[in-house]
Amino acid sequence: MSEVLVLVDHVDGAIRKPTAELLTVARRLGEPSAVFIGRTDHSAGAVAAVRKYGAAKVYLVDDSEIRDYLVAPKAEVLQQLAVKVSPAAILVTSSFEGKEIAGRLAVKLGSGLITDAVDVQEGPVTTQSVFAGNYTVRAKVTKGTPIIAVKPNSSAPEESDGAGAVEEFRATISESAKSARILASEPRQATGRPDLAEAAIVVAGGRGTGGDFTPVEKLADALGAAVGASRAAVDSGWISHAFQIGQTGKTVSPRLYIAGGISGAIQHRAGMQTSKAIVAVNTDADAPIFELADLGVVGDLRVVFPKVVELLAGT
Ligand code: FAD
Repeated sequence: MSEVLVLVDHVDGAIRKPTAELLTVARRLGEPSAVFIGRTDHSAGAVAAVRKYGAAKVYLVDDSEIRDYLVAPKAEVLQQLAVKVSPAAILVTSSFEGKEIAGRLAVKLGSGLITDAVDVQEGPVTTQSVFAGNYTVRAKVTKGTPIIAVKPNSSAPEESDGAGAVEEFRATISESAKSARILASEPRQATGRPDLAEAAIVVAGGRGTGGDFTPVEKLADALGAAVGASRAAVDSGWISHAFQIGQTGKTVSPRLYIAGGISGAIQHRAGMQTSKAIVAVNTDADAPIFELADLGVVGDLRVVFPKVVELLAGT
């Protein structure tokens, strides 16, 4: 069976949930090989974690030459590994960084690339939602090694013991790949909430919050969810652009998306309509968001959200 390379998304050796999802998807296409690019003294936890999700092999790539640079060296590592092992496919997380790596890699390998896949089946045949969600497209790479960027939360991670044989891989990084250097890297202020792009539950607020995100944040905390927002809320200066969901913000595919005070404009839908279940709370019974919601509540979010928090707390 051919190898399927999976780029491990990790923070200092702790793998992120989308990597477990990619390994689960990779098992449909061949034998998953996890590619860990990072400080090898941080790799022990990652190796154990990727084995748990079926990695048959683990390539460790020490980052002594990579750590100080942006994404270009990672694309070179994957290119050289792909030339060595001729994988059946290469999977990365469809994040800003993942997509940039995938694009650079596709050029280097002369391969076709599919981004924002929400499903990948044998073939590999992918499913994407395009044109602000107006079309669902099934696609297949027809040239070179299929490179596929898969959206977080597209599939549930399933455990399966993998041998996870460790092999150190040394890549040669070109001078041009080192042309953009990281000067400083500071962790985002911790909110204690999951990352928006990979959260299983998202509670989002729009103009209907009137600028007070407290009910949205309280419900998010009660559900262990991430907070999101519409562009109207961002443009009003109520919340930062990092929380914006939609065509010009983040794309999310959580298991549950709760929209409060969001009308459901097409540009907002583009970023959330692949959510598995959608709940909308809106005072206007004719709001377009209800066309897409699995459950709609006509009501004031400032009343409905605190009520749900109360119910969750059993009070
Ligand atoms: P509104 O459309 O004003 O809706 C507010 C809703 O809140 C209404 O339905 C109202 O009935 C309801 N409401 C009011 N009070 C309450 C209450 N107390 N309780 C419950 N409901 C209440 N938008 C995005 O979101 N993301 C994008 O990435 C994005 N990109 C764009 C890109 C382009 C090129 C363009 C042109 C637009 C883009 N937009 C984007 C903007 C988009 O068209 C909408 O203007 C925006 O999504 C509206 O945000 P909203 O739903 O919060 O506000």
